[in-house]
Formats: sequence, C-alpha cells, structure tokens
Amino acid sequence: MKDTRIETKCVQGGYKPGNGEPRQIPIVQSTTFKYATSEDMGKLFDLEASGYFYSRLQNPTCDTVAARICELEGGTAAMLTSSGQAANFFAVFNIASMGDHVVASSAIYGGSYNLFAVTMKRMGINFTFVSPDCTEEELEAAFTPETKAVFGETIANPALKVLDIEKFARAAHAHGVPLIVDNTFATPINCRPFEWGADIVTHSTTKYMDGHGSAVGGCIVDSGKFDWAASGKFPGLCTPDESYHGVNYIERFGKEGAFITKATAQLMRDFGCTQSPQSAFILGLGLESLHVRMQRHCENALAVAKFLKSHPAVEWVKYPDLEGDSDYTLAKKYLPNGSCGVVSFGVKGGRVAAERFMKALKLGAIETHVADARTCCLHPASATHRQMNDEELYAAGVSPDLVRYSCGIENAEDLIEDLNQALSVID
Ligand SMILES: *Cc1c(COP(=O)(O)O)cnc(C)c1O
Repeated sequence: MKDTRIETKCVQGGYKPGNGEPRQIPIVQSTTFKYATSEDMGKLFDLEASGYFYSRLQNPTCDTVAARICELEGGTAAMLTSSGQAANFFAVFNIASMGDHVVASSAIYGGSYNLFAVTMKRMGINFTFVSPDCTEEELEAAFTPETKAVFGETIANPALKVLDIEKFARAAHAHGVPLIVDNTFATPINCRPFEWGADIVTHSTTKYMDGHGSAVGGCIVDSGKFDWAASGKFPGLCTPDESYHGVNYIERFGKEGAFITKATAQLMRDFGCTQSPQSAFILGLGLESLHVRMQRHCENALAVAKFLKSHPAVEWVKYPDLEGDSDYTLAKKYLPNGSCGVVSFGVKGGRVAAERFMKALKLGAIETHVADARTCCLHPASATHRQMNDEELYAAGVSPDLVRYSCGIENAEDLIEDLNQALSVID
C-alpha cells in the first residue's frame, strides 16, 4: 500500500495487528521478558538481535507509540521519554559532553532555558542564546569550534515566536552540526521540521499529543539524514562504545538508527527516564484524534485572537496567525494550516487588572498547563514568575500584564462570551 496521509497515520500509524491480535495497542505492563537460554539474552545485550529484556530500556507499548510519532514526523527512528524535559536533555546530551557548546534560540520554554543555562552548564556544557530574529551574521557569530548542536522551538512557549527553521538549519549544517527542534506547540500536524532541514525533533507529548491533561511524557525523533561520520565531530556515535560491548553505533545501525540506539543504550540505561507503558497507551489514544483536535484548537485561537484584538480593555495580542503579527510571514511559510491554540495578550491596567480578569473567567481554568482539550490560562507575573519584579519580568520576556490563554476545543462563541464577561470586570 502506498504511504498514507497524516490523518491516517494518526489513527493507524505504528501498529498493524495481525490475524486475531488486539485492535488497540496492547499495554505490555511487564518490567521484564523471559528467555530460554542465557545465550539468547546475551545476543540482545550485544545488540546483535532485537528484542526486549528490561522496560527501563525498551518496552513494546512505548516502541509502538514512538513508531506512530516517528511516522507522523517522517523520521527513521524514535523513542519515548518520561517527559519533555527528559527528551530535550537526552537529545542534547546524546551528542554534547563536558567542554562542548550549543547554540540555542533565546525564545524557548522556561524549563528548557533552565535545563540548558543552569543544570547542563553545571555539567560543563555551555550555551549561547541568540534571538530567533537574529541576522545570519549574528547567528554565525554564536558558533565556536566546540559547538555540537543548534536548538530552537518551532513555536516558542510562551513567546509564540516562530522559528525560521531553514535559517537555523543552514547555519547548523555549515558548521557540521545538527539542528534540534522542539516541535511541541506546532505538532507534526501543523509543521514537520524535517521537511525544512531539521535533523532531530523533540516533543513534550504532555501537551497536544496526549491532549487531555492525562499523561506526562516526551519523545525524540531522528530524521536519519544527518551524516554523523562525515561531520567528524561526533566520535561518540562513530567509534566503539566501550560501555556497551564495543558497539559502533554508525557502523551497526547506520545514520538512520545510530542516534536513537545510542540514546537508548547509554542514556536510558544510565538515567532511566523511561515512559510507563500505561502512559504510552494514553498517549497513543491522544494521537488518534490529534489531527481533528489541532484544527479546532487553531480555529478557536484565531477567533479568540481576533476578538481580543478588537476589545478596548486589551492592550496587545500576540498570535502568529493574526494578520499584522510580527511572525505572520514565518507562520504562513512554516505553518500554513494554522499554528497552535495558544494566544498571549496584555490587559490594560497591568498586573492587578490581569489578576482580576483571570479570577472572573468561568471556562478558562487557571493552570500551569497548556495545550489541553479544556481551555486554560496563566498569568505568569502572579503565578510561575511571581518572585520577579516588573523589571525582571521584562528582562525574561514576560510583561506584567501578559496572560497566556490556551484555547481548548470547546465552542469558540462560549470562550469569547466568557472572555467578554471577564474583561468587563476590569473595563
Ligand atoms: C512543556 C514543554 C516542555 C517540557 O515538557 P514536560 O513534558 O513538561 O517535561 C518542553 N518544551 C516545550 C515547548 C513545552 O511546552
């Protein structure tokens, strides 16, 4: 059968049950797997045969769901992780060690920024952050001889900046290093970064992919295109791994499989940031409706953004699909079918007014979460960033009046009526 379209992949990708087998992906809730002889198991340890032996490294349910995401992104290999944080940590740490350097967009999720700028810095990996709007020359100037990767988010959380993937990929490849793109907010429904030159894609599957606020998880997908051997900068992938029976990942698994096999064999083995089969099953269910939900999230967000833009109590609105938005041109190029369901805006009256407005909302629940079927919102200045004064907030790219409003898949008119009554409180 010819390759199916993305909607069909959401529903049936990664799992083709045989005669009499379960129609739904089975939950293999087992830590371990049984073998007849030690020799049989030895072959698995030597990566000579493929199979399962311990669910910290691999589990059939997790692999099936990872295969579905792999198909959606158009990659060659994928793995699930315990969270989006673990996915981004593994994606970078798989190819960067003490003394190495990474160029990252400054418009990224706060958790990723902290992971890179604080925790991974303690591991001796240095990051240079560049504005996503930087010129090619400014981007070029951020590289050092130790640079091992470039990192960005397709649509930044919460800044809603759209990454010029081709610009970042060009710079990365000119320096013989891969571009890693966190595609959480766009999802492969709205953008497939590999088609624009990205080499590795990561996800917090906790967001739209699960989509129901039920399971924390992450995923890493390899495009299989980056030539690790030709680059000459990645001995970890191209020379024998003495910690894993002397395997040479590139020789044994090719550029299609080396990255994910190394991340599984080394990082899962040592850090154990594995996803539970139960969570993977929930993620698989979420993926079945991802294409339908994303369309509704985007329709609702555009309607909400247009409403807010016209409301006198609203100071400013940031949504990439809104005509006149600073990222509109990039959004039309990379996200022609819509960007995501998250809209950021500022209410007149700053921090105090924002707090009063949020309290008056009846449908939009106050949560740190985003990208859920149910509408939720956050006022960073009085919640996640409450320890900062106004000056510090601006420096972090979060204005005191900023409200992050994540449109669910409810009726858009209901959301607008709710916003309207809450805004009337501060009018
Ligand atoms: C939430 C988020 C993460 C972190 O994911 P967790 O699943 O919460 O660990 C990483 N990147 C982006 C863009 C996110 O929105």
